[in-house]
Amino acid sequence: MLARLAGIQKDTIVDGPGIRLSLYFQGCSHCCPGCHNPETHDPAGGSSFSTGELLSLVDNCPGIDGVTLSGGEPFEQAAAAATMAAAIEERALNLVLYSGYYFEELLAKSIKDHHVKALLKSGWLLIDGPFIEEEKDLTLAFRGSRNQRLIDLPRSMAASVPVIFERKL
Ligand code: SF4
Repeated sequence: MLARLAGIQKDTIVDGPGIRLSLYFQGCSHCCPGCHNPETHDPAGGSSFSTGELLSLVDNCPGIDGVTLSGGEPFEQAAAAATMAAAIEERALNLVLYSGYYFEELLAKSIKDHHVKALLKSGWLLIDGPFIEEEKDLTLAFRGSRNQRLIDLPRSMAASVPVIFERKL
């Protein structure tokens, strides 16, 4: 399984709680005005990696708390992202997901797309929603605009409604 990535960041502390390995997926159809990463939009850009290569990278990052799948839009490569998510779960690392879609939209997609469902079920924290320039707030943890939410995925999936992540960050 191949994943197309815009970049990789080791030992980051800005893409979710703790020390993380972040994988930035290439390709995003949201085109939010003011997006800080427009180079991630073209699905043909970036570079391809096998999920095996990416998992070797995970295994060579000792001391991380978890892995973040960001973008771009990781849910637009849901099959590769779900393969990564399952392996990350097997390694008892927590999984943070970013998406320009809101949780409710992803839940609706998950009815027809089992990869989206698997991703949502493997995740610990979802930062959801598009970047909205008018709602920009640089003081927020792990997100750029006030409309974006920190979603507790296990509780949200159990309840089929978005539950806000309450752990102190
Ligand atoms: S979802 Fe994220 S990467 Fe995609 S256009 Fe919006 S801000 Fe940029």
